[in-house]
Amino acid sequence: MNALVATSRNFKQAARLLGLDSKLERSLLIPFREIKVECTIPRDDGSLASYVGFRVQHDNARGPMKGGIRYHPEVDPDEVNALAQLMTWKTAVVNIPYGGAKGGIGCSPGNLSLSELERLTRVFTQKIHDLIGVQTDVPAPDMGTNSQTMAWILDEYSKFHGYSPAIVTGKPVDLGGSLGRDAATGRGVMFATEALLAEYGMSISDQRFVVQGFGNVGSWAAEIIHENGGKVVAVSDVTGAIKNRNGLDIPALIKHVKQNGGVKDFEGADSIDPKTLLLEDCDVLIPAALGGVLNRENAGDVKAKFIIEAANHPTDPEADEILSKKGVIILPDIYANAGGVTVSYFEWVQNIQGFMWDETKVNDELKKYMTRAFQNLKEMCGTHNCNLRMGAFTLGVNRVARATVLRGWEA
Ligand code: NAD
Repeated sequence: MNALVATSRNFKQAARLLGLDSKLERSLLIPFREIKVECTIPRDDGSLASYVGFRVQHDNARGPMKGGIRYHPEVDPDEVNALAQLMTWKTAVVNIPYGGAKGGIGCSPGNLSLSELERLTRVFTQKIHDLIGVQTDVPAPDMGTNSQTMAWILDEYSKFHGYSPAIVTGKPVDLGGSLGRDAATGRGVMFATEALLAEYGMSISDQRFVVQGFGNVGSWAAEIIHENGGKVVAVSDVTGAIKNRNGLDIPALIKHVKQNGGVKDFEGADSIDPKTLLLEDCDVLIPAALGGVLNRENAGDVKAKFIIEAANHPTDPEADEILSKKGVIILPDIYANAGGVTVSYFEWVQNIQGFMWDETKVNDELKKYMTRAFQNLKEMCGTHNCNLRMGAFTLGVNRVARATVLRGWEA
């Protein structure tokens, strides 16, 4: 099932539980605006190359639309649409004053030189600058883009509109990026896990963790869990999977990954088959790499008691059903990985105020937002007698629906 079908299915189930009027339901589902632009640039060898760029602005009832821009050869409008919709519900779940958006350019960033990437980013910005804005739509990095891409967007946008650091988040700190943004999604995953475990009288320090993916989200989540006394017993990345029953030395592993480009051959662990990583004996499983990794083929063999969805959409709806029947508790992506967009919001606030926060303030505020959202989500589970995924969806959809109705329909 693709991401758009799964997201729309969860939305419709939430709309039914909330008893939403069918016209309101339809209006919430249809994107506010879909943008498709042609971007032609001269390549370094003098030839011309054309790419298609997208931006889907899904909903702005609660504030400016917010979401990443990805550079990937398979960027397709349906997926961008689903991801934009997910951002609307995600920003509402953590109660930050934003709507949802997503965008991208169909290109292979690895095959473009730095100057070609800069030209492409600037042309894309020229094509959409009138449709994004500090109070309209605020892009951020995503797959294949990074803080440098945001710096180019800031610069190009500022040529048209004056210096505007708040036009993007995930910027370099030297250009107004927030301290703590790099670790924010992983740190948010830890706060979310802490809040869930507390419901069962447990804490990070008495649990064994398995983490799939050791990039930005996975490595920060593992490091912060380790700092808080949790035992990370197995991790994987694209180079392989490793395990140590007594707990991996995460700071040493991070050093190894920096030097060797991956977790493979780490001395303090045994190597295992990456296919079995998700099925390892542990208490908490954190998929932090790709979508769809938990599916009907492997869900029945998962041994974890808790799954924290750090990646977007790691659990297929079929796996969701199998895991629920087994009694596995799943903390859904639209809450669990919302730490990144929450600190992006803090970055935007700092840029608008022209006053930068220290890292302790960023982390303390993040904890408040994640903990409060978990309590709100649990209340929705109680009200609607539903699981955590539906608790998160009803929470997000209800907030957006209320804002839409309050703003009214008059043309
Ligand atoms: P990243 O590119 O930094 O890291 C991805 C990691 O996954 C890498 O370690 C890579 O080696 C590993 N990986 C790739 N294929 C794998 C495979 N088949 N098996 C095991 N590992 C594999 O990406 P990221 O920013 O850490 O994002 C990870 C996930 O979290 C994605 O689903 C992303 O959409 C989601 N997410 C990220 C953020 C953020 O702030 N970075 C926010 C919300 C959600």
